[in-house]
Amino acid sequence: MTRRTVTILGATGSIGRSTLDLIGRSRDRFEIVALTARTDVAGLAALARDFRPRHAVIADEKLGPALRDALAGTGVEVMAGDAAVVDAAASGAEWTMAAIVGTAGLKPAMRALEGGGTVALANKESLVSAGHVMMQAAAASGATLLPVDSEHNAIFQCFDRAQAGSVSRIIITASGGPFRTWPIERMRAATPAEAVAHPNWSMGAKTSVDSATLMNKGLELIEAFHLFPVGAGALEIVVHPQSVIHSLVEYVDGSVLAQLGSPDMRIPIAHSLAWPERMETPCQRLDLVAIGTLGFEAPDRARFPALDLARAALAAGGAKPAILNAANEIGVASFLESRIGFLDIATLVGEVLTRYDPPAPASIDAVLEIDREARRVAAELTGKIRN
Ligand code: NAD
Ligand code: MG
Repeated sequence: MTRRTVTILGATGSIGRSTLDLIGRSRDRFEIVALTARTDVAGLAALARDFRPRHAVIADEKLGPALRDALAGTGVEVMAGDAAVVDAAASGAEWTMAAIVGTAGLKPAMRALEGGGTVALANKESLVSAGHVMMQAAAASGATLLPVDSEHNAIFQCFDRAQAGSVSRIIITASGGPFRTWPIERMRAATPAEAVAHPNWSMGAKTSVDSATLMNKGLELIEAFHLFPVGAGALEIVVHPQSVIHSLVEYVDGSVLAQLGSPDMRIPIAHSLAWPERMETPCQRLDLVAIGTLGFEAPDRARFPALDLARAALAAGGAKPAILNAANEIGVASFLESRIGFLDIATLVGEVLTRYDPPAPASIDAVLEIDREARRVAAELTGKIRN
């Protein structure tokens, strides 16, 4: 494999660490330009000592001196502040992992796309909020956008771009999350600890709660809409509790192609790290006989209203997907702080979507303005909403 320079935005998170785990196994193939984190000075310093990037960047400006102390004598240049994270995204690396969680990742992801290199996108929230603006930026700069989200990575591997007009359906699989079989009354009383205990995947807290509400699948529906030119009507969601099939692409002749693998994010990350080549991973191989049976079921729209909210936001277009995403971030954060109940997350999102109806955003600044206002409306409502 050809040697590449890489930058990892969100290096201390679940996706960032999985990326570095793979890079650590093939150190001669990668040279790290920048690693970034929000507040985890100790975590970022340890990674920087190990991987020796040119720059280590902490988003929380007041933590700059602590990171500088921790990396004294290493030769790693330390920078601090949100603007420094955006600068790191423009560091000129050939390959950038966009793995900051939430809308906070939007500006850095945009900057990386404008640079025209290869951007491995894990940060689905940025594409949900600003899909049109981001896809335009990628087209204008000639950047290569590689989807890291396991479902979209699976679709990418099965989707024949030369035959895009012959794709009749994209089937996105969902594990169903930890509450797949719970009655609604039990879901109402679900605790943050229960919601983050995902049966198949290990993820950051926000994404784990999204998997429990199925808002994660709703966001992924909108993500798929932007990444693959098939139209919203051709996107379907099927619950597949084993998380072995990561998604499927159906063609007009009835052929269905699927990508399978162990539920380990290092597989889609490795695919985008090596693309268009392939690289070895230590991931567990599929033992089909041990798995025995693959199950599929329709998602329960009544217990998981986030799915219909996301579909409606996608159909309405304009500012609605950004509002959906922003309200959800507030809802999830409020739930994790035990200020609202589990089912209140979707209620809150629905309420913000109804109350706030700005015109469609045409720039990143306009998206961020809508994001701020949607958060303000959501925060105001969290005090009032109780299911
Ligand atoms: P995480 O919470 O484990 O890590 C988030 C990273 O972003 C950390 O490095 C953190 O320091 C950084 N960060 C957070 N807020 C920031 C801010 N304001 N400024 C700068 N940096 C900030 O999250 P994760 O699970 O690794 O998920 C990252 C992204 O990947 C999310 O968008 C998520 O939806 C997506 N994703 C994750 C998984 C998974 O399995 N974890 C799978 C698919 C997609
Ligand atoms: Mg996913």
